Amino acid sequence: MHETSIAMGLLDSLNQMAEREKATKVLKVRVKVGKLSGIVVDSFVFAFNALKEQFPKLSKAELIVEETPIRYRCKGCGKEFEVETVFFPECPECGSVDLELLSGEELEVVDAEIEV
Ligand SMILES: [Zn+2]
Repeated sequence: MHETSIAMGLLDSLNQMAEREKATKVLKVRVKVGKLSGIVVDSFVFAFNALKEQFPKLSKAELIVEETPIRYRCKGCGKEFEVETVFFPECPECGSVDLELLSGEELEVVDAEIEV
């Protein structure tokens, strides 16, 4: 499963961060997941919780996922807007399909609460 390897990658980098910060425990992790990232949030959280036991510093970590919307900027008129799906998005203002993707593909750690 796709989400398993992503969760594993996240745990790995959190573990490295914990080592770097000399943390004994990571308590809470907040991540942003874009709707375009292809990640199924439920599966991702499930995988994270199943795998975190392998990392002593992360075994108590609570994962909080914020889904970020798909956002575009119209190259024609400059309007910024959000869409629910990625199928044939067009500018609600001028109808242009010449769009720049602003957000929606990200997977990033916003912050982490640690115990030193
Ligand atoms: Zn436009």
